[in-house]
Amino acid sequence: MVHFVGAGSGAADLITVRGAKLLGEADVVIYAGSLVNPELLSYTREGCEIHNSAKMTLEEVLEVVKKAESEGKTTVRLHTGDSSIYGAVREQFDELEALGIDYDVCPGVSSFCGAAASLKAEFTLPDVSQTVIITREAGRTAVPEKESIASLAAHQATMVLFLSASLTEKLQKNLLEGGYPADTPAALVYKATWPDEQILRCTVGTLHQTVKDSGLTKTALIIEGNCMGDEYVRSKLYDPAFTTEFREAKQ
Ligand code: SAH
Repeated sequence: MVHFVGAGSGAADLITVRGAKLLGEADVVIYAGSLVNPELLSYTREGCEIHNSAKMTLEEVLEVVKKAESEGKTTVRLHTGDSSIYGAVREQFDELEALGIDYDVCPGVSSFCGAAASLKAEFTLPDVSQTVIITREAGRTAVPEKESIASLAAHQATMVLFLSASLTEKLQKNLLEGGYPADTPAALVYKATWPDEQILRCTVGTLHQTVKDSGLTKTALIIEGNCMGDEYVRSKLYDPAFTTEFREAKQ
């Protein structure tokens, strides 16, 4: 059995209770060493076999899993954040299916949620934006043309960019071209929820210069949108004049 487990965004206590339990029971752990906090390995039991997938190919990962299966062992594949976001898990799922190896998935706190907490931001603010776009600037991995940053920017929704902190020159140009006004609030969150987290606040127009000056081009998210501004309207849910399934209007 293979359990894919989301490690959470950084702080070791942000793994789910279920994820920590699975780690504690595993015979073999393969963790994404480039981004997973190594402190999480302290949840494993003594004698647990540990592999760092940052130094492995997909084929090598599968070899470890196959060997563990043949010995009747349980494997945890520990991915950073939540494995559904840039996790490269689908290719593993398909190989396991082909091999007839059973697996399941335990969700994790994605770094975009970790970053929202660090920023104390609400990404979906009434009358400002009711949409969160999760995307990346095209780098060595291409992005489909119909999802170009400029076309997504036209919505002026809350946008969270993964894997893009080293591409801010191109990114800023695309965001502005697409339709965000230059004074739209923006932020870079470096190592959200890690002890050495850093937050830089700027605007879409000053994004590239701010990030360049900081030198923080890895393990960072870039977020833009008026959800980080000062204007919004109150929610209907907690409005005294609004009746819901659970509460009568007070006026
Ligand atoms: N599955 C992960 C994302 C993996 S892609 C998740 O759900 O968060 C790797 C990218 O995620 C990094 O380049 C960076 O853009 C972002 N990232 C991961 N952890 C981060 C953190 N703690 N703070 C900021 N960005 C992070």
